[in-house]
Formats: sequence, structure tokens, C-alpha cells
Amino acid sequence: MSRIPLIAGNWKMYKTGPEAVKTAIDLANLCSKVQGIEVMIAPTFLSVQHVAESVKGTNVKIGAQNLYFEKQGAFTGEISGDMLKAADVEYVIIGHSERRQFFGETDESVCKKIKAATQIGLKPILCIGESETQREEEKTFEILDKQVSDGLKGLGSDELKNLVLAYEPVWAIGTGKTASIDQVDDVHQYLRSLLEKLFSKDLASQTRILYGGSVKPENVKDLMGIKDVDGALVGGASLDANKFINIITYNT
Ligand code: PEP
Repeated sequence: MSRIPLIAGNWKMYKTGPEAVKTAIDLANLCSKVQGIEVMIAPTFLSVQHVAESVKGTNVKIGAQNLYFEKQGAFTGEISGDMLKAADVEYVIIGHSERRQFFGETDESVCKKIKAATQIGLKPILCIGESETQREEEKTFEILDKQVSDGLKGLGSDELKNLVLAYEPVWAIGTGKTASIDQVDDVHQYLRSLLEKLFSKDLASQTRILYGGSVKPENVKDLMGIKDVDGALVGGASLDANKFINIITYNT
């Protein structure tokens, strides 16, 4: 089964609306000849609709950084899947470690969000990863197992056909430290076999597993060369279109 690589940019809480639109248009121009690879950017909720309009018809796809699992209602400050769909959003990042760390996201709320995303036809990018202490205590696989099993509890292979997993060791996010090739290789192989155990061989072989954590133009080629790495989730280095394009075109 061939999996089209996905290079996704998480813009976190950076860029005003006009700044986001400008970077998105610059990136779309730089990506006009890119083939065989999907490119996605996830701006803030405030910019997502304008950014989507500004790159419509280009190679750049749009993601959101979060959603709320209810369809609508008295949930001040939240955004639903329907609202994202109506703004031409295709992907949604769920359970990013910053949401787990600073905003009380749990495997249970992650699971509700994955369900809400799949029901509305948004492609969920489930983020998982161990902290530095958990790695030192050799709990990496146990933690990943729980995040995947609980985050996808009650969902079936059919609902998860557009699932993307993003392995993001917390200690590598925004720190400049990248997991070693062996560490990434071990974890990605483990995750693929876990998907097979929990769901099916087909789901395991079709699901893209991204690596995230200080991906930059200098290390992307080695990371993408790992058999079970199907793309990258990029934070800091995706904010500058000229830098991000060097990641996207790692193979040229
Ligand atoms: C991220 O935000 O998901 C991320 C991996 O950030 P960075 O690339 O800056 O480490």
C-alpha cells in the first residue's frame, strides 16, 4: 500500500490574519510544482477561513489546530467540526502535546474529538508522544499504547480510514532536539503494529504516521528515509514559507 507523504505545518499561536494569508500565498506559489506529496498548514482559528480562501485551488491544504466535539451550543470560546468544514478545512490536529499540557486535554476528550471529526468528514491528525521523564523511565511504548488505545476507543476501521498519527516526543517539540533515527524507527514500527493489533492489517498499512519534533531542512531527508515515516508535522520551521518549502522539497 503506498501512502502519499504529508508535510503539515502547525502555526500554533503565531501570525495575525494578514500575516497568515501572506505566508500561505507565498507558500502556495512556492509549492505550485510540488507533486506526489500533500502539503497542509494549520493557522489559528481566527485566520483559517481567510487562509483557506486565499489558497483555494492550489497545492496547499488547510488544517485546524483543534475542535470541540459538540456540534453547537452554549460552549463559549469553542469551535465545532461543522464550522471548520464550512471554512474549507480538511484536516484537524487533535491532542497536540501543548493542548494536553496547557489546556487539560485528556485521552478521553481526544477520543470525543476524533469521533466528532470523523463523523463530519474531517481528517484527524492524532498527536501522541512521551515526555522526557517517561522516556528515561522506559515507559515510551506504554504511554504511546495508552494514548492510541484510549484516543481511538470505540472507533472502527471504517471511521478511521482518514486517520493520521503524529508521533511527537514532547522533549523534541520546539527544543531543537530531534529523536534519533533509531528511536523514530522503533516507535513508528511499534505504532504500525499497534494499529494492526487494535484494528486491522489494512488500516495499519494505509494510515500515515508522521514524525514531529524540531523537523528542519537539515534533518528532514534522514527522517523521511525511515521506512514507517510517512511525513512530518512541523512547528517552528513551517512559519517561514522559504524554510518550509525546503522541508517539503526534501527529495529534490
Ligand atoms: C509541533 O508543533 O507539532 C512541533 C513539532 O513543533 P517544532 O517543529 O517547532 O518542534
